[in-house]
Amino acid sequence: MGLMTIYRTLALLAEVGAVYTIRDQHGEASEGRYVFCSDHHHHHVICTGCWRVWEVQGCGVAPEQQAHVAEATGVTVTGHTLDFYGLCPSCRGT
Ligand SMILES: [Zn+2]
Ligand SMILES: [Zn+2]
Ligand SMILES: [Zn+2]
Repeated sequence: MGLMTIYRTLALLAEVGAVYTIRDQHGEASEGRYVFCSDHHHHHVICTGCWRVWEVQGCGVAPEQQAHVAEATGVTVTGHTLDFYGLCPSCRGT
């Protein structure tokens, strides 16, 4: 498989939710940055140096927070994503 074929396949997988598209803090995705996710709910820690992704097990988002958002906007909240950004030890050079 050529590299472009792999990118196209990954883009397709991302569309159906089988892989997660890694975005920067501004929501910009760049080609070829994907990660395979486990199917239980989790959050991500993303290194903005090497774009490595860690899964954080457990949610930590309070149900009250979700209820507050729902009340403030009138939106029936069905889920959320939460990504943390930073530099990993090797990108920090420590
Ligand atoms: Zn994930
Ligand atoms: Zn890194
Ligand atoms: Zn969560």
